[in-house]
Amino acid sequence: MNQKFVYLFDEGRADMKSLLGGKGANLAEMTRAGLPVPPGFTITTEACNAFYSAGRTISPEIQQQIDAALAELEKRVGKKLGDPANPLLVSVRSGAVFSMPGMMDTILNLGLNDETVKGLAELTGNPRFAYDCYRRFIQMFSDVVLGVDHYHFEQILDQVKETRVVRHDTELTAEDWQDVIARYKELVRKETKDDFPQDPSVQLDRAIRAVFLSWNNQRAFVYRRINKIPDDLGTAVNVQMMVFGNMGDDSGTGVAFTRNPSTGEKELYGEFLVNAQGEDVVAGIRTPQPISALKEIMPEIFQQFQEIAARLEAHYKDMQDIEFTVERGKLYMLQTRSGKRTAPAAVKIAVDLVAEGLISKEEALLRVDPDGLDQLLHRRIDPDAKLQVIAKGLPASPGAASGQVVFDADLADKLAGEGKKVILVRPETTPEDIHGMVAAQGIVTSRGGMTSHAAVVARGMGKPCICGCESLRIDLRAKQFAVDDHVVKEGDWISIDGATGRVLLGEVPLIDPVLSPEFKQLLEWADEVRQIDVRANADNPEDALKAREFGAQGIGLCRTEHMFMAIDRVPIVQEMILAETDEERRRALDKLLPMQQGDFEGILRAMEGLPVTIRLLDPPLHEFLPNLEELLVELTKLRMQEDADREQIREKENLLRKVRALHEFNPMLGHRGCRLGMTFPEIYEMQVVAIFRATAKLRQEGIDARPEVMIPLVGHVNELRIMRELVVEKANQVMEETGQRFEYTIGTMIEIPRAALTADEIATEADFFSFGTNDLTQTTFGFSRDDAEGKFLHQYVQHKVLPDNPFAVLDQTGVGKLIQMAEQLGRSVKPDLKLGICGEHGGEKSSIEFCYKTGLNYVSCSPFRVPIARLAAAQATIKHRK
Ligand code: PEP
Ligand code: MG
Repeated sequence: MNQKFVYLFDEGRADMKSLLGGKGANLAEMTRAGLPVPPGFTITTEACNAFYSAGRTISPEIQQQIDAALAELEKRVGKKLGDPANPLLVSVRSGAVFSMPGMMDTILNLGLNDETVKGLAELTGNPRFAYDCYRRFIQMFSDVVLGVDHYHFEQILDQVKETRVVRHDTELTAEDWQDVIARYKELVRKETKDDFPQDPSVQLDRAIRAVFLSWNNQRAFVYRRINKIPDDLGTAVNVQMMVFGNMGDDSGTGVAFTRNPSTGEKELYGEFLVNAQGEDVVAGIRTPQPISALKEIMPEIFQQFQEIAARLEAHYKDMQDIEFTVERGKLYMLQTRSGKRTAPAAVKIAVDLVAEGLISKEEALLRVDPDGLDQLLHRRIDPDAKLQVIAKGLPASPGAASGQVVFDADLADKLAGEGKKVILVRPETTPEDIHGMVAAQGIVTSRGGMTSHAAVVARGMGKPCICGCESLRIDLRAKQFAVDDHVVKEGDWISIDGATGRVLLGEVPLIDPVLSPEFKQLLEWADEVRQIDVRANADNPEDALKAREFGAQGIGLCRTEHMFMAIDRVPIVQEMILAETDEERRRALDKLLPMQQGDFEGILRAMEGLPVTIRLLDPPLHEFLPNLEELLVELTKLRMQEDADREQIREKENLLRKVRALHEFNPMLGHRGCRLGMTFPEIYEMQVVAIFRATAKLRQEGIDARPEVMIPLVGHVNELRIMRELVVEKANQVMEETGQRFEYTIGTMIEIPRAALTADEIATEADFFSFGTNDLTQTTFGFSRDDAEGKFLHQYVQHKVLPDNPFAVLDQTGVGKLIQMAEQLGRSVKPDLKLGICGEHGGEKSSIEFCYKTGLNYVSCSPFRVPIARLAAAQATIKHRK
C-alpha cells in the first residue's frame, strides 16, 4: 500500500502523535470519543519532511491524498470549497509533536473570495459578519503566507475607523468592511505586485506550504532551541471546517483549563469572548471575560462544557487546555491538550490526581519536571516590606522580581547581556519578543488575559508575569509608562509580584520560599523511591540548616575558603600568607585556629547525626591578596606624592613582591588544592586540628558529629598518601589531647583526569571519592571555565558544537567516561568505596540520572536545589531501577 500522508480526524488516534502532531492526534481522539468536533483532516509530519526533502514541494502523491480528503470532507458537511452558493470555509493550523504555543502560524476563514463572501452573507443573513470574516482572512493570509506585515492592515483599519468616527471594530458596518477589503486588496497588490489569490484551492495549497515553512521560521527555531526540541520532527497541518464564534450574541469563543494552571486548584479556569473568533482571545487584543461568566450568559452551554471538560480530564488523566467555540448556540470543541502549568500547579495537580485515584505515585513523580521546581524555590516579596503598589493586573505567572524597566525586547536582551536586571513592559507580547522575555527577570503587559502570549510563555519559562494591567498607559515612543500620577521611565526600577499581579515602585526585599504541603508530599514519595542520597554544598550553619530543612542527607562539600574570606579574617589570612618565617606563619595560623574551630562546630552541630564532608583549602593563595595591577597603580601614585610616607611605600613594595611571587600564569592549573597542603602543611594541619577539636568538643556535649576530611585536586596517589598521614597524625593528636575518641573518614576529590585514570591506586588511600565535576570538566576539556563561558562557549552551544554548556549539564561521553572509569577502577580495589559528586552538576537532572546509573552513592548540590535533586533522583530510579 502507498504511504498514507493524510488522515481524516476519525482515522487517527491519540497514540499517533508523532505522525499527526499533538493537535491532530487530539482532534482525532476527541472525534473518536464522540465529542462535538468540527470535521477535518490532518496532513502528517512525514508529509512535512517529504516536502523538505523534495526541495520544498508537495509531491503529486501527497497532493492527491489531500484532494481526496478534501472531497470527503466536502461530502460529509455538504459544502464545497469555493462554492458561492454554499461555501466550505476551513482553518489551516500547524500542529507539531510538542506543543509550541504561538510559534507556528494559523489561518482562519480560508475559502473566502469575492464570490463566496456573498454566499456566506446570504446564507447567514449577516453580511456584516461575512465581510468581517473576509477581511480577517485577507489580513491573516497576507501576513502569514504573503509576508505583508500585520501592521499595515491595522493602519488601514484605524484610518477607516477614524473616518467613520467609531472606536471599536464592532461598530463598523458591512459597507465599512467592504471598504476595508478594497483597501486591503489594494495594499496586497502594492506590496506583492500581485492580486490577492481568489481561487480557494490555490489559497489552500499556499496555506499548507506556509505551515510547512513556518516549521523553520526564526521564532519556531528559537522556541525549539530553548525547549530542546529536535529540528527534524516536522509539523503536521490540520485542515478543519470553520465554525464561527462571531455570528452574534449567541456565539462566542473561549479557552479554558480544567484546573487553574497557575495554582493547580481544581476549578474551571479560562476566558471567553462573546461574538468573537479564536484569535481574539489568544492575541490579547480584547480583554475577555472569565469563563465563569459563561454560566450567566449561556447556562446550558456552560453545563455541557463542564461535563465535557471533566470527561476529557478523566480520559487523558491530566489537566487539559481546551479551545472551544459556540456557533449560534451550539458548542464545538476545537482542541484539547495537556495544559501548560506553573511548577506549583504541576506539583499540586500531580498530587491531587493521585488522591483522586487517576494516577499512581510514580506517575505523579514523573509528571513534574525537576527543572521547573526552581520556581517554587524562588524568592517572594518580604511580607513585612513597605510596598508602594502602583498598579494591579492579572497574576499570570507567579514569583517576584525587581529590575529596570525596558520597553523593547532587543534592549532587554542587550542590558541583560551586560548583567543588568530588567523587567520587560509591553502593551502585549508576540513571538518576536521571545528573546527579550528570556532575558528579562519578569514581564508586564497592559493588554491580554491569562492565556495571552505573554502569560503562556512566561509560565513556561517560570518567570513572573503580570498581564492585562490596563491602568498602565504605555508610551513606547517616549519610553515611559504612566499610572495615576506616577511616570515610570526606561531604566527606573520596579518590582512585580506575579502571584498577586501587583506592580510596585522601586526594588523590594525578597525572602526565601517555604515548601507547600503538596510539594512536601511529592518529595516524600520521591524519597520512598530513590536509591541515591542527596546532600548539599554548604559552608555555614544557616545554609546547612536550610539544606537540612529541604531534605539534605548530609553536606557533600563544605568549602573552607569561604571561611578565610570573611571580612574580619582577611587581614589574618594575609598575615599568614605574607609571613617571612615559619614562626610568623604559625602565629597567624594560631589566630585562625579557634575561628576555624568555631566554624566547624557550627556546621557539624547543624548537621548533627549526618555526614559533613569538609574540604581543606583549595584556591591559590593570591586570591586572598590584593590584585596585582591595582597594587601597582597604588604604589605608583604613592611614589609620585611629594610628601610620600616612606614606611607605607616600603610596606606596599613588600606586598607587591609577595603578590608577584604568588602570581600565576594559569591559576586554574597552578599552586592550589592539595599542592598547597604539600608545600604549606601547616595550613592544612591547622584546619584538620580545628575540625577534630570541634568534633571532640561536640562529642563531649553528646552531639553526634561526623566529619569527613576531603583533600582537593589530587592527581597522584602520593599526594593523597602524604596528606592522609597528616590528617591521621593530627586526629591522633587531638584524640590524645582531648581524651575523646571519634570516627572520621578521609577521602579525595576526583577533579583531574589523572586521578580518574589511576583511581585504583588512589582508592588505596581513600575512604571516599567525590567527583568535583566543575574542575574535572575544565581539566578534561582543557577549558578554563571563566574564559570559556565569557568568550566562546555561548557560541559553541548556539551552533550546536556542544549540545549543552558542559559546566551546567555533565558531558557524559567525555567527563562521564572518566567518572565511570574511576568508579570501576576504584571499586575494583575497594568494593565499598563511597562515591559522590559535588560539582554544579549534582543539582541537574540529566547529570543526576547519569550518577545514579553509574552507581554513585550520593549527589551534592546547593541547598536550594536539594528538592530538585530529590525528585530527579526518584525519576532516575523509576526509569533505570536496578
Ligand atoms: C569542583 O571542582 O567540582 C568543585 C566542587 O570544586 P570547586 O567548584 O570549589 O572548584
Ligand atoms: Mg574543584
